[in-house]
Amino acid sequence: VMASMAHLQKEKLRLQEELLELQEKLTARENNELSLSLQLQGQVETLKEKLLEQAQEISRLRSELGGTDAEKHRDLLAAENERLRQEMKACEGELRELRRQQQQAPCHDCPHLQENAGLQEQLSQLQREAEETRAKLVELDLEVQQKTNRLAEVELRLKDSLAERAEEEERLSRRLRDSQETIASLKSQPQQIKYIIKTVEVESTKAKQALCETQSRNQYLQEQVGMQKQVLKEMEQQLQSSQKTEAQLRAQITMYEAELERAHGQMLEEMQAMEEEKNRAIEEAFSRAQVEMKAVHENLAGVRTNLLTLQPALRTLTHDYNSLKRQVRDFPLLLQETLRSARAEISQAVEEVHSTNRELLRKYRRELQLRKKCHNELVRLKGNIRVFGRVRPITKEDGEGPEAANAVTFDADDDAVLHLLHKGKQVSFELDKVFPPQASQEEVFQEVQALVTSCIDGYNVCIFAYGQTGAGKTYTMEGTAANPGINQRALQLLFSEVRGKAADWDYAITVSAAEIYNESLRDLLGKEPQEKLEIKLCPDGSGQLYVPGLTEFRVQSVEDINKVFEFGHVKRVTECTNLNEHSSRSHALLIVTVRGLDRSTGLRTTGKLNLVDLAGSERVGRSGAEGSRLREAQHINKSLSALGDVIYALRSRQGHVPFRNSKLTYLLQDSLSGDSKTLMMVQVSPAEKNTSETLCSLKFAERVRSVELGPVSRKAELGSWPSQEHLEVPKGLLGDSPGSAAPPGRGHASPSPGQLSSRSASIRRKLHTSG
Ligand code: ADP
Ligand code: ADP
Ligand code: MG
Repeated sequence: VMASMAHLQKEKLRLQEELLELQEKLTARENNELSLSLQLQGQVETLKEKLLEQAQEISRLRSELGGTDAEKHRDLLAAENERLRQEMKACEGELRELRRQQQQAPCHDCPHLQENAGLQEQLSQLQREAEETRAKLVELDLEVQQKTNRLAEVELRLKDSLAERAEEEERLSRRLRDSQETIASLKSQPQQIKYIIKTVEVESTKAKQALCETQSRNQYLQEQVGMQKQVLKEMEQQLQSSQKTEAQLRAQITMYEAELERAHGQMLEEMQAMEEEKNRAIEEAFSRAQVEMKAVHENLAGVRTNLLTLQPALRTLTHDYNSLKRQVRDFPLLLQETLRSARAEISQAVEEVHSTNRELLRKYRRELQLRKKCHNELVRLKGNIRVFGRVRPITKEDGEGPEAANAVTFDADDDAVLHLLHKGKQVSFELDKVFPPQASQEEVFQEVQALVTSCIDGYNVCIFAYGQTGAGKTYTMEGTAANPGINQRALQLLFSEVRGKAADWDYAITVSAAEIYNESLRDLLGKEPQEKLEIKLCPDGSGQLYVPGLTEFRVQSVEDINKVFEFGHVKRVTECTNLNEHSSRSHALLIVTVRGLDRSTGLRTTGKLNLVDLAGSERVGRSGAEGSRLREAQHINKSLSALGDVIYALRSRQGHVPFRNSKLTYLLQDSLSGDSKTLMMVQVSPAEKNTSETLCSLKFAERVRSVELGPVSRKAELGSWPSQEHLEVPKGLLGDSPGSAAPPGRGHASPSPGQLSSRSASIRRKLHTSG
């Protein structure tokens, strides 16, 4: 028992120990619970504190951020703006005043005006800037509005979270109370501790879970608070930046104000300066006016005295004026009367002038006719047909030695006489004029001039160059480029004459060039020089001849003539290989037509100037030429003898003139007959070897000339044309000139006719000179 008692006692002790242990554990747990609840309470407390802090912070922030401050600021700015505006208005008023003053006392181009303009510009700029600042202010207002809105939102959210927290707290406190109750119950029921402990353990896990939840919730809320803080910080930054811009704007405004003040000060200064200037100007003007006034006063005194003296003069003047007025009233009547008489006088004078004019015109016409008659008479006296001789100088072509010796001599006293030494005998000839070798082209032309001018008066003129080949025919007619012959000079003379008469006359000068070779006529200026032209009677019944198809060039200047000559020459050169040979066997004609119209009388004139370079007169037949050469010679001789016949017939005034016997005479018919004038230029070579041809030419010349001596002597002198005698030409070809029927006994070498004629001519001259 003792053992079991001991054992029981031991057991009792162990149980007591165990109970103690359990009690300790319980107290420990209780303590634990208490500390936990305390801890929880502390946490809740801290959270509450934090909440309070946050609320305080929020309120602080609100007070800091709150519209009130920004609004105050804005209001301040607006007030300042208003003040500035008023100041500006005041300034503008001042400006207007100033401008008005300026208008009253304008000063042009003064620097103040320019400065004023500058200031106004600045003012407008300032106004613009003020406008801008105002706009910025409005923007800032808007921003502040937005920020306050956002703050209200944040507050709302904060309230929500606070409400949530309050709920949570309540829940937690409720649970704490529950757990305290359970602890109390546990205390009251220590027997059931084990069980309770278990339940407590279970509940404590639950509490732990709830704690965890709350903790996480707390964390979340803290995070949110952090975020809100960040937002707040951002807002603060924005606020700071807006404050900064505001400060800047304010600085600008102060700057502008300062500028405005400066401008105002300047303006005041200027105004003062202007005022001074104005005063000065007024003073000056005043002093000047005083001086002028004095002068005017003096003048006035003078004028007054003058006025006193002038009054009687005025009286006489008014009297004069009245009398003049009366005269003026009478003047128109007087004027009309005088006008009427003057008109009558004038018409009478005009009538007189008319009658004298008519008389003069009649006289002029009569004089014209008389002049023409006189001219004709003169020409008739001089002879319509004149024969000149021209001796060319000895040239290189004549060679040397006795053959080239000079066989021609002249009379020192008589320029119409020429002596030829032929076969030892001296034969003398008298022509109308003889040109010695030294005679220039100019001198020759001077003798021809009168003929050419008569062409302008409407006469037909023929100038022939006759002579053997090489005697100088072409030289006389055409000449050289440096020393032109009759052709060019005649045309030049025509031009100058026409120019001289241009006041009353209209003239047209045309030129044609033709060639007669082997009795066929060819146009040298035409497009087809090979074409043979025919001579026809004019269809108008005037009896005039014309050549259809013959080219006529109208010439107006010397250049035109040169062109025409060149053209003709080129034609001739291209037509034959040997120009000289060809030209010596053909007649070259230059036909100049001068058509005139007298503008005052309506009189029309037509004059023709025929310049003919005849074919060589040498006697070819003698040398026994054959074929074409003989035919050529026959043609030449025929035409030359026909020319001789015609001239003879004309000079002897025969009823019939055989123009038709050759192309040449037929073509020149109207230029040889009637009032026409003919010049035969007989060319001779002075060389010894040419004497027989020279003799023939001179005889021809003298015969042509001598015919004029009178019908009886003419008849007596008549003979055949010696140059044609030697030709073996059929008799019929020589034509029906009386010369062909002449006795053949008159040889070409016989000097008698020439001597006879020269003698008779000199007798006639002597008679003339003796009276
Ligand atoms: P034609 O025409 O009669 O056959 P040209 O007129 O051809 O003769 O003259 C022959 C040569 O004589 C030419 O070289 C020309 O220059 C020259 N001649 C003719 N007459 C004169 C003169 N009066 N003065 C100078 N040279 C002349
Ligand atoms: P038409 O003009 O009637 O045809 P022309 O006058 O030409 O006639 O004359 C023809 C020919 O008759 C010419 O050769 C001319 O010499 C000749 N002939 C005409 N009449 C005469 C006359 N009265 N005397 C001499 N020959 C004359
Ligand atoms: Mg010639």
